[in-house]
Amino acid sequence: MVMESQGLARVREIYHDRSHRVKQLKAAGEKVIGYFCVYPVLEMLTALNLVPYRVFGDMREPITKADSCLPTVVCPFIRSALDLGLKGKYDFLDGVVMAHVCEVGEKTAHIWNLYLNPPYFHFIDTPHTVHKAAQKQHKELLKDFEKTLELFTGKELSPGRLREAIEAHNQQRALVRELYNLRKPDPPLISGTETLQVMVALMSLPVEEGNKLLRQVINEVKGRKDGLQKKTRLLIWGSIIDDVALIEMIEGLGANLVMDDTCVGSRFYFPDVELTDDPLDGLAYRYLVELKCPRTFREAVFGETKKDYMADLDSRFSYLKEYAREWNVNGVILQSVRYCDIHGYEVPQVKDYLDSIGLPSIYLEHDYSEAALAPLRTRVQAFLEVIS
Ligand code: SF4
Repeated sequence: MVMESQGLARVREIYHDRSHRVKQLKAAGEKVIGYFCVYPVLEMLTALNLVPYRVFGDMREPITKADSCLPTVVCPFIRSALDLGLKGKYDFLDGVVMAHVCEVGEKTAHIWNLYLNPPYFHFIDTPHTVHKAAQKQHKELLKDFEKTLELFTGKELSPGRLREAIEAHNQQRALVRELYNLRKPDPPLISGTETLQVMVALMSLPVEEGNKLLRQVINEVKGRKDGLQKKTRLLIWGSIIDDVALIEMIEGLGANLVMDDTCVGSRFYFPDVELTDDPLDGLAYRYLVELKCPRTFREAVFGETKKDYMADLDSRFSYLKEYAREWNVNGVILQSVRYCDIHGYEVPQVKDYLDSIGLPSIYLEHDYSEAALAPLRTRVQAFLEVIS
């Protein structure tokens, strides 16, 4: 009898062959729905027994097809994801749901639908502010999403089933927070590279299967006697990181990456969904207001007296100070894929904020390609020398 691998060994298997498990599920009759970015509401898929599967690019594969549909001056992550789609690598998906994360994301959604014509397709025009009116609008958009899913599956999405799905996803969020707590000791019990592999694995499995795997990983990591002591403890902020290449490079230079603020990490997993009387209220609020991606505009919440630039920064980024304190961080890597306006425009302000709290940082822009990481190595090395 072949024993199934467990814990981090299983994580590595999934990381290196992400679609293997969902293809097995599909062969057993389940339907797999791809989603881009963090805004599609996964609980609604889970509640209808659809398997959510995060669509990523592949920074190790040259982009050869997408340039016929998208200009080369858009973010290489989304070009890479579309490229994989056009090459048939996402043909196993039964459908795709995308949200208005950015202008490029919106255009790509419609190009995906036009060129790949998946059996199910839905686009959520997620608002870009968090005002009450935007929250109300978001709830209406989720009702539309619900209707299209019901039509596709032929099943009704009951509030009871939706509540169960919220509980399962909240359970996953709690387990991820527990795993991140194991990065707090010095040295951390789990590396940044391993953590990212776990996050990618979770985004490639049904939620309950992911929860079981997370429990195994947490037990295994807790059983470690110690980690690798290094001088520097870093936080990484910015646009999507779905491949370990950048993290491995940074950790290979003598730093421990102990915390992140990216969408394949804490940004996606930390906020829970509140169980409200109408579950859509809690979902609409969490996915619009609680997800702290710079694609959403937030007005500053000023204190009584101060209304200036620094107070604005403090109201938007004070959670980074908390992360730095709790995970004992002494430097920050700000990074973004080239042409990502969403993150690029935010960098000067995040940097000003980090300067104001005395936390050194460096900004890296990259081409979402493994080969293009080489020149960044020297810059990271110099940064580590300065702050160690
Ligand atoms: S990385 Fe930036 S530009 Fe690319 S899809 Fe994400 S938010 Fe949009």
